[in-house]
Amino acid sequence: MKAAIAREFHQPLKIENLPVPDPGPQDILIKVKACGVCHSDVHAVDGDWDPPPVMPLIPGHEVTGTVASLGDQVNGFAIGDSVGVAWLYSSCGACEYCQSGMETICKAAEATGYSKPGGYAEYMVARADYVARLPDGTDPYEIAPILCAGVTTYRGMKRTGIRAGQWLAVLGIGGLGHIAIQYARALGLRVAAVDVADDKLALAKSLGAELCINGRNTDPAKALHDAIGGTHAAIVTATAGQAFEQAVRVVRNGGTVAYIGLPGKDSDTIRMSIASIVNGEVSIRGSNVGTRLDLTEAVDFAARGLVKSHNSFASLDDVNAIFDQMRAGRMVGRTVLRIS
Ligand code: NAD
Ligand code: ZN
Ligand code: ZN
Repeated sequence: MKAAIAREFHQPLKIENLPVPDPGPQDILIKVKACGVCHSDVHAVDGDWDPPPVMPLIPGHEVTGTVASLGDQVNGFAIGDSVGVAWLYSSCGACEYCQSGMETICKAAEATGYSKPGGYAEYMVARADYVARLPDGTDPYEIAPILCAGVTTYRGMKRTGIRAGQWLAVLGIGGLGHIAIQYARALGLRVAAVDVADDKLALAKSLGAELCINGRNTDPAKALHDAIGGTHAAIVTATAGQAFEQAVRVVRNGGTVAYIGLPGKDSDTIRMSIASIVNGEVSIRGSNVGTRLDLTEAVDFAARGLVKSHNSFASLDDVNAIFDQMRAGRMVGRTVLRIS
């Protein structure tokens, strides 16, 4: 099968012909149709995070395709079914986190395209219990980004506890952020968008963000406090530490900030006023991808047409150019690889 593989950190992916993998008893072999390019794939290949991924690595965790074959112990799937694979490849199912519906923080979890081979390939293996079923009629090329950008921002928003009618700030209007705006609108929220690029803010506006602020030349906290007294919650999907510091000042007293972006170990620390957090009773929460239930719900919004990723399409051979565009912050919306 054709695959894009990283053999060394910081080096371009190589397009190679590799053997089709064998599914284990609890696995599904998937014929991949599409795979979105998430900034996390770039972080993985650049070795930005600790622990690093298992090398050599086939990245990709916004995967859609069809069931090609099934392990002996797999029930409930048939050859040809439309499926999706997200970052959460598997979790242990037995620890306190798994038992309480928090499998996103299971310490034994495996990650698609990080600790397990992902979807930049014509075939991949996935654990059946963690595979998403795609409703009839969903377009596998259009929906692929929902498998990460969608579910992750949907969960992040939920973790702020925000309610319909309240203001949400989205800092970082990239692949994740532009989809976040749409979940927010579908949930009846009012949206303020912050990015450092005007073309991304234009996209945000077209998707229903009522206030759009360029954080490069305007302090978003001052602008949003002047305009609306601060937002009730914020989610940060940016790749620069600055946005994480700003988000804490963007919310009004009692507000909650969910951190989603992961800039990497070279810019992994923030500095902020303890007093403003204490006196304003501001909460900061981390949010890591989504549970299987979050994924089912996130896919449902997209299948009903309430959320639609703004996609460009490319082939597997173009992946290094797409990575470079992302590193330079020039990617508007999401790029989806058409694999078959
Ligand atoms: P992307 O490159 O498509 O978007 C990043 C956006 O951040 C860009 O629009 C960029 O202009 C903007 N940005 C950069 N500096 C900024 C600043 N100072 N203020 C405001 N905006 C700024 O990336 P993506 O695929 O959307 O991923 C975003 C981040 O989320 C990455 O770090 C990725 O690894 C992380 N991520 C985390 C999870 C999770 O589960 N927590 C899941 C997926 C992705
Ligand atoms: Zn991702
Ligand atoms: Zn567990």
